[in-house]
Amino acid sequence: MKPQPPVTRYAPSPTGRLHLGHAAHALYVWGLADLLGARVLLRIEDHDRQRCRTEYEAAILEDLDWLGFEPENAVTPDYRQSDSDAVYREALGRLRRGHNVYRCVCTRKDLAAHCPASGTGERIYGGRCRAANHPRGAPHGLRLEWGGGEESFEDGFLGPRKQEPARQCGDLLLRDRHGQWTYQFAVAVDDMRHGVNLIVRGEDLLDSTGRQIRLARLLGRAAPARFYHHPLVTDAAGVKLGKKQRSPALGELRADGIRPEKVLGEAARMVGLPVEARPLERLEIAATIAARHGMA
Ligand code: GLU
Repeated sequence: MKPQPPVTRYAPSPTGRLHLGHAAHALYVWGLADLLGARVLLRIEDHDRQRCRTEYEAAILEDLDWLGFEPENAVTPDYRQSDSDAVYREALGRLRRGHNVYRCVCTRKDLAAHCPASGTGERIYGGRCRAANHPRGAPHGLRLEWGGGEESFEDGFLGPRKQEPARQCGDLLLRDRHGQWTYQFAVAVDDMRHGVNLIVRGEDLLDSTGRQIRLARLLGRAAPARFYHHPLVTDAAGVKLGKKQRSPALGELRADGIRPEKVLGEAARMVGLPVEARPLERLEIAATIAARHGMA
């Protein structure tokens, strides 16, 4: 098979305004794309309808444009998860043909009471509803029985990794009790259908990688994507910024007259790139990432 040209994506969830952490992530996505000659697609990950809002989607597009990050595509229904229900249903049908996908009526409370927690606090679903054959009428999620075994991959920044989905989360939830597709399922289906073969994202998503590789394989993906998990932003004391202690929104910085190069420089510094305290031009990003990660 001919090697496929690299395709990556920036996949924000429109649950709020972009902050410096998002700018640092965009910097890694477009910087690595420049280094590896990849196309960059933009995908709106709004599978969680309760938390996502359309006004944030518009603001994200504006902020990216201001920073100088240009995706290759416009956001059409194909690139917005809330418009892709038919695609996920088709993928679910494909999974069902070869694997046990079953109705699960367990609530959060049930999970807390009956499922052990993994090292990261995630509940490991051992298959409580696997053989129950619950009727369609009752509220239910859909889970995939996918057995044991490890998934190995070579992270472009972190090196070789092994993960065992059965010990991380057990049978995978594909759709929740409210009828919403889960992040893991939507992302694996989307990366596959969009031809994404280079995934650049924060280390906070590293734990998802083995399960997404496995899910993609079960969906019929021939070769897994290549993954690069980058560091997360930290404050001046080196402490990782959590969702609650976010820096000001990029839109506020823009309204205050701050230049995008200044914001990029600050985001780069906070994510540990070797830039000191100075503005960073869009065209310098690739070289900065190459220098930090020994890719020159
Ligand atoms: N939509 C996810 C987020 O905003 C990113 C998903 C991914 O890169 O796999 O955190």
